[in-house]
Order: sequence, then structure tokens, then C-alpha cells
Amino acid sequence: MTEARRIGIGWDVHRLEAGRKLVLGGVSIPHDRGLVGHSDGDVILHALADAVLGAAGLGDIGDYFAPEDPKWRDMESTIILHQALAGARARGWVPENADVVLLAEEPKLRERKKEIAAHLAALLLLPVECVNVKAKTAEGLGPVGRKEALEAHAAVLMRTAPPA
Ligand code: MG
Repeated sequence: MTEARRIGIGWDVHRLEAGRKLVLGGVSIPHDRGLVGHSDGDVILHALADAVLGAAGLGDIGDYFAPEDPKWRDMESTIILHQALAGARARGWVPENADVVLLAEEPKLRERKKEIAAHLAALLLLPVECVNVKAKTAEGLGPVGRKEALEAHAAVLMRTAPPA
């Protein structure tokens, strides 16, 4: 097969609520509130998984993890990303690089974004320099600006997998 590339994008938003653990990109972040979701609410992993599925032409994570199914309750979202990667791999696609934007008024993630990127690189089986995480505020605007939610966007470039 000739080498080819495909790009995918993903987006997600989850509400912040007291009494929940905050997990971002699979990394636990100390904070007084966490993300509400059927799973652990990890907006970064959900956006990334959707970007992987998008590049492989495999729909979105809602097609595989129905929110009404109780078996996914509070599950770690690394499972979602792993399943998206396995589906893409079966179609002959592997990640080449990923770029993520996290929108958070707080907590401030400037000190943690390299650690999150390194963790994502491990999950994607990529060198650290192939994964980038940006952390931005919403300048006080909208639900993110009011500290009611966190939002994430992701882009992933996939290439044809080398022969096994
Ligand atoms: Mg989600």
C-alpha cells in the first residue's frame, strides 16, 4: 500500500462539579472540582479519541460507548482512546502527531501541560516531540470562563501503518 495520511479533529466539553476527581489526558490533577461525565469525563482523551476515529473514518466515540450504557460508568477514558486506536490500527492507520488545546479558566495547567503531553505520547505510542498540549483560558467568557466547564480540541494526523 502506498503511504498515505489523514487528519482528524475532535472536540469535547464537560461540566465541573465538586466531589469529582479531575483527570486530564489521563493525568490526575489536584483541584477542588472534577469533570462530570458518564466516564471519568476526561475532555482531552475524548477529543483525542474522536480525532483518531475521524481520521480513520470510524465515526465518533458515541458510536462505541453509549452514554446510557451503565457498564461505562466512571470508566477511565484511556479505555476509550485505546479502543479508538485499535479500530484505526485495524483499518491500517497509526498516529503520526497530535495537537491538543485545553480551555480552562482554572486550574492553571501551565506547569502540567508537558506532563500531560508526555502521557498522551505514551498512550499514542509516539515520541514526546510528536504530541503538543496547549492550555488557554476563555478570558472569562462563556461556561469555561465562568469556571463551570472545561473544553478540549484535538487534531491528529494518521499515516498508513508500516507492515506488521
Ligand atoms: Mg466527553
